[in-house]
Amino acid sequence: MNSFIPLSIPNFEGNEEEYALEAVRQGWVSTGGAYITELEHRLEDFLKVPIIAACQSGTAALHMALIESGVMPGDSVIVPTLTFIAAVNPVRYQFANPVFMDCDDSLCMDPEKLLQFCEQECRLIEGRLIHKKTKSHIKALVVVHIFGNLADMEKIMDVAETYHLKVIEDATEALGSYYTEGRYAGRYAGTIGDFGAYSFNGNKIITTGGGGALTAKKPEDAEHAKYISTQAKDDPLFYIHHEVGYNYRMTNLQAALGAAQMEELPEFIRRKQHNYEIYQDLFQNYEKAELLPFRTGVNSNKWFYSLMIHPEQTGKAIAEIIAELQNMGVQTRPIWGLIHKQKPYSSFEHYKIHMAEYYSRRIINIPCSTQLKKKDIEYVAETIIKIL
Ligand SMILES: *Cc1c(COP(=O)(O)O)cnc(C)c1O
Repeated sequence: MNSFIPLSIPNFEGNEEEYALEAVRQGWVSTGGAYITELEHRLEDFLKVPIIAACQSGTAALHMALIESGVMPGDSVIVPTLTFIAAVNPVRYQFANPVFMDCDDSLCMDPEKLLQFCEQECRLIEGRLIHKKTKSHIKALVVVHIFGNLADMEKIMDVAETYHLKVIEDATEALGSYYTEGRYAGRYAGTIGDFGAYSFNGNKIITTGGGGALTAKKPEDAEHAKYISTQAKDDPLFYIHHEVGYNYRMTNLQAALGAAQMEELPEFIRRKQHNYEIYQDLFQNYEKAELLPFRTGVNSNKWFYSLMIHPEQTGKAIAEIIAELQNMGVQTRPIWGLIHKQKPYSSFEHYKIHMAEYYSRRIINIPCSTQLKKKDIEYVAETIIKIL
């Protein structure tokens, strides 16, 4: 019997201990220190972008992206319903209104429905996209690259251009995913829209415990994000502040972990991709469940694996399946509850949501840590096949 196989745990096989200890020994543990700029430079080199602003969390990065997009109270922002709720909460931090959009078979935002919504439910008035029903100005959209899969950015960017929407890419799950074909070949998740947000939370492909980063198409926007993330200090000696600031800057202690994790990122991606292929073989031609593919024309980091259960074939509820697997030492979890149905969001607008409903009742995520060995993966697959 194998020991317990968790869904996703951090991997500190590299220089994490050494760098974190060094940060402590130097006494640089707070929001100043060389590891912060080191991590920013490593991310800039890796993503081929001119500027990265390291911050406290992916949520903080998304919040700053909305602020820099000029999203204000009463504005609207188009968001997905099938995702982690942190992609949507910052819209409310700005007292703006989310408009929930459906997904397509990639689990990411459906660009056809997005276009339809803009064409039929909105009107462009003097360069502003106005939602006919609520009269609200739709300023931006948040597109999430779900589980490391890339959204259909060609179509989404076309819609955004036509309708003057700022594009905020939530690339918190997709660090290292990039297009290999098409208009954006060679471009990484988070570097295509106006803003890209990354997360280094404990379950992400690299982690700083908690942490995040923001990049922007206009370098001055990311520069300004750095400024507001450090309490908007115009004169740090005499405490002069020309704007409302935030305490969103990453600490040097977090960045020490991050600098070490960046050294391992290519290897982590390689292992995620390799382990996915092992699962793919094991679930080949299996009629009760199917491992969902990633988009073609994309080199995905394959952060999380989605197993779609066919309920008609198994006759078991998802909750039952997860509980049985847990008892057999395999941790899995259902995909998220749809956000437009959650208590804080049930009164906001949503548009023709069908596919998200379909997938939300069928998908479980299965163990995907970078430490997994072939025999662990075989045990997970055998166990799933046994109980379904
Ligand atoms: C993890 C995650 C976030 C938030 O990142 P934190 O660093 O935990 O704040 C936002 N959106 C999505 C889709 C995520 O998976």
